[in-house]
Amino acid sequence: MSKQPLTFLRGVGPERAAQLARLKVFTLEDLIFLRPRRYEDRRHVRQIADLQRGEAATVRGKIVAAGIKRFARRTKSVFEFIIDDGTARLHCRWWNMPYMEGAFCKGDDVLVYGKVKDLKPRIMDHPESEIVDSESQDESVHLNRIAPIYPLTEGLAQRWLRALIWNSIEGVLTAMAEPWGGAISNPSQAEALRTLHFPENIRDIEIARQRLALDEFIELQVAIRARRRKLCANATALPCRGDNHLIKPFLAALPFKLTGAQTKVLREIREDMSEGEPMRRLLQGDVGSGKTVVAACTALMVLESGHNVVLIAPTQILAEQHFNTFERWFKTLAVDVELCRAGQRTSMSTTPTISALNRRITVGTHALLEDNITLERLGLVVIDEQHKFGVAQRETLVRKGRYPHLLVMTATPIPRTLGLTLYGDLDVSTIGEKPAERGLLKTFLRAESDLPKVWEFLRKQLAQGRQAYVVYPRVDETDEGDLKSVLTECRKLEKLLKPHTTGFIHGKMKAVEKEASMTRFRDGSLKVLVASSLIEVGVDVANATVMIIENAERFGLSQLHQLRGRIGRGTHESYCILIAKAKTDDARRRLSILQESNDGFRIAEVDLEIRGPGELLGQSQSGLPPLKFGDLRTDLRIIEKSRELAAQFESH
Ligand code: ADP
Ligand code: MG
Repeated sequence: MSKQPLTFLRGVGPERAAQLARLKVFTLEDLIFLRPRRYEDRRHVRQIADLQRGEAATVRGKIVAAGIKRFARRTKSVFEFIIDDGTARLHCRWWNMPYMEGAFCKGDDVLVYGKVKDLKPRIMDHPESEIVDSESQDESVHLNRIAPIYPLTEGLAQRWLRALIWNSIEGVLTAMAEPWGGAISNPSQAEALRTLHFPENIRDIEIARQRLALDEFIELQVAIRARRRKLCANATALPCRGDNHLIKPFLAALPFKLTGAQTKVLREIREDMSEGEPMRRLLQGDVGSGKTVVAACTALMVLESGHNVVLIAPTQILAEQHFNTFERWFKTLAVDVELCRAGQRTSMSTTPTISALNRRITVGTHALLEDNITLERLGLVVIDEQHKFGVAQRETLVRKGRYPHLLVMTATPIPRTLGLTLYGDLDVSTIGEKPAERGLLKTFLRAESDLPKVWEFLRKQLAQGRQAYVVYPRVDETDEGDLKSVLTECRKLEKLLKPHTTGFIHGKMKAVEKEASMTRFRDGSLKVLVASSLIEVGVDVANATVMIIENAERFGLSQLHQLRGRIGRGTHESYCILIAKAKTDDARRRLSILQESNDGFRIAEVDLEIRGPGELLGQSQSGLPPLKFGDLRTDLRIIEKSRELAAQFESH
């Protein structure tokens, strides 16, 4: 019965049903899961005489006057009623909503909730208001209780909706089965839903929310587990432990030693790839923690075992860079490295003829997803900077081969709450330590008025042979007048920084142009690269030690952290200078976190708190279902519990 349409209820016709549909309430069950957006404690209605300026409060009184005032040329109007509760009078005003006049009359008993704007006279602008009528139900449903306030849409009245839920809730609850075979009590879901709508005290509301969030997260975890099972169903993994005949010479020739963290992660990966099930592993490590070399070693294990490898990068520039790196690293090994360019299917190789005997690593962008590219004997798919891909895309990739192992890498340190939900189907390895011999990275927050000094500093660094990035939020001038742009500023900097050479790169350039700029910067013929946030991911030029980001207030914290990850990669000390028009203290405080902390996890957590998961991960991550009760900012404990329970429920 709980899936019945709403018209099943008395008093709900097609018109009401259409209004409720706009709130995404289609069935009886939807109605019972409609979350109030706030509550009003009407057991303690305030006296008008006691109201303080600026506070939000609920008061109740009789309308003693009501009317509409129009202003010159009739472009503006205000509807006002005045209520009296025996202690004082309160003016309630609605601007430019003349139709309000029909809704209230002198003599009506009303409840209003709003912010007190003024005390002489007492005024509330656009308060939420509800007429109290003399029906007997009123006392118990709408008054003298903690009343739920629901989201509304045009034509839908608060008390009508509240009465509808009040009248139908018990019937619907009786018809609904407790989820998870009733295994969770205290509160049960039915109890939680009762409390959600008609709580007996304020404290219980959060307990009810947590219970409903738990249900939501368990459902999500069950779906994640099902997805993983489906991917691995009947999948016999390719044994890819390797025998070290490639890794050994590779590590010996590498100009550095692997860190403890890298070695630990490689051990986890090797174990995974020797098992019966294909590996599904997320490798997370802050920018600059050295994920690429881990990917290389993983690739070598697979190549040693006689299978081929595909590496997917989110941008062509990055694909290019990985290709160059691997080509250099694998030069002396019997391994073909090929680059698959976006748009064209021609590929290059280190060896002029691709030997059928050689194992091969193919580097490319998501163009590799296109169906007509066949990848034979595919043993491993590595996806770099996974946060730039969606969950759905990841699955397409993995279906590509028969059942290749999967290594997904990300530098957006994902707060645990998100990790457990978005990546719940992956095992997680973390590189928690950066290579030691790094120059320090210092971050400074500066105002626009400091720019002359900043350019001076930049010239000094350039004179010492270093290179720099200067980043702008826009590519070219737009209507958003006060934002600086790559193209305009590049022209200015060219003059300002002479004789040092300046070039630019941004997302609107053709692939070959981007490559050309990047190559010139990498080989040092460009000293300064003026860039859009395009360079956010992966780019690795060790001699670049200065990054100046203008209009820094326009970027997210995690994005700024990614950007500055481009420097501090060599042994020289590096400087990130954020130029911000921090209008508010909030904006300043937000940015100052970057000054204080170099810990990507901490920054991501702050970012999540401030901006929410959608923003943090970008649009592509919309793989996350909308949560009604769960809150990724706060619900780590509940998510962990939901994981345990999901596993438990499944094994029964
Ligand atoms: P990210 O994790 O951001 O992808 P990279 O793999 O690009 O980082 O590595 C950053 C830089 O650190 C590269 O120049 C890489 O060669 C270097 N690097 C990686 N591992 C080590 C190590 N163990 N010791 C010293 N340098 C390292
Ligand atoms: Mg990288």
